[in-house]
Amino acid sequence: MNAAMPVSEPVIPPLPARRELGRLVGGEPGPTLVVLGSMHGNEPGGTIAAKRVLDRLSRGDAPVRGELLALAGNLGALRARRRYHAKDLNRQWSEERVAELRSQPGDADDAEDREQRELLVAIESAVARARGPVHVVDLHTTSAPGIPFVITGDTPAQRKLAAALPLPTVLGLEDQLDGALTSYWTRRGCSTFAVEGGQHDAPGSVDCLEAVVYVTAGAIGLVPDGLGAEVQRSLRLLDERRAGLPRVMEVVRRHAITDTDRFVMEPGFRNLDRAHAGQLLARDARGEIRAPHDGLVILPLYQGAGNDGFFWGREMSALRMRTSALLRRLGADQALAWLPGVQRDATRASRLVIDGRLGQMLPLGVLHLLGYRRVRRDERGLVADRQPS
Ligand SMILES: [Zn+2]
Repeated sequence: MNAAMPVSEPVIPPLPARRELGRLVGGEPGPTLVVLGSMHGNEPGGTIAAKRVLDRLSRGDAPVRGELLALAGNLGALRARRRYHAKDLNRQWSEERVAELRSQPGDADDAEDREQRELLVAIESAVARARGPVHVVDLHTTSAPGIPFVITGDTPAQRKLAAALPLPTVLGLEDQLDGALTSYWTRRGCSTFAVEGGQHDAPGSVDCLEAVVYVTAGAIGLVPDGLGAEVQRSLRLLDERRAGLPRVMEVVRRHAITDTDRFVMEPGFRNLDRAHAGQLLARDARGEIRAPHDGLVILPLYQGAGNDGFFWGREMSALRMRTSALLRRLGADQALAWLPGVQRDATRASRLVIDGRLGQMLPLGVLHLLGYRRVRRDERGLVADRQPS
């Protein structure tokens, strides 16, 4: 439990009349910030937070440069106060799924297909009229209380954007999720992140998400003047909510589970938590699962079904961050493809196929350092993906 979380009345979900919550266009060119709230309909917090920022900026004393566009994600589910109707709208953003949707006749659409079509049009239009770099921020909340955190792809631009937020940033988690909205827009040249702001109906979660939008707006230069007080207050709030956890952590491995594993997480872990070497983390049909060394437990599974027991992670030190940035500036990530036994995938430039023997010698940590955060094994050997940068 997060002791810093205030206990008070739950927030009242708003029922926005339309998808576009608001749009502010500056006279001066500048960055575009697309803020999405309530991609999951049972998470009203993001929509409320976005509305608060729009209301503040509508006073006119803090002019926008570029454009701020705020959108409700799963509008129908938000009105029905449920997570989704037919399927999870935040798992539909693979290239294949979007292509399928585009060729599908409209009368075959389910509720989320309709939502996704409208979102595609809204965000594509924002990208088309952009007069600077485009940023997409996706605001979420969680069923359990916990420390807010940022999930982002491991590209230099995204690291820089996330570094402005004094919350824990988890690298390598987005890569484990198939079809997340943020990775789709990253592949289209936007800088993106998602944030989990706290428990669904806690007022403190709305404050946190609002603070994330202010800090982001400040960091990208969307509002050059007039928001200083809000940004400072927001930085303090987010720093406090981090509760002493590291600023950057990386997923080392995913503890995948099946029903036959009879996996039970040890009670007491927060959504992000430290664990020391040898500490009992969970039990399954084979016995105890203990921490291999000092590290971090990320998203332990306590309720509902799922295939992720937990993610095992570690703090990404400032030195490791700098080393990684330097190696990539020097092109080591590209040079990896020249090694004997390594081939670039013919269909995807950001994917490497590493043959069996080399795959066993090459430490996973090296691949992670170079931004290859999703590593799986198939009949060809190791298949390592990274996000385009
Ligand atoms: Zn969500």
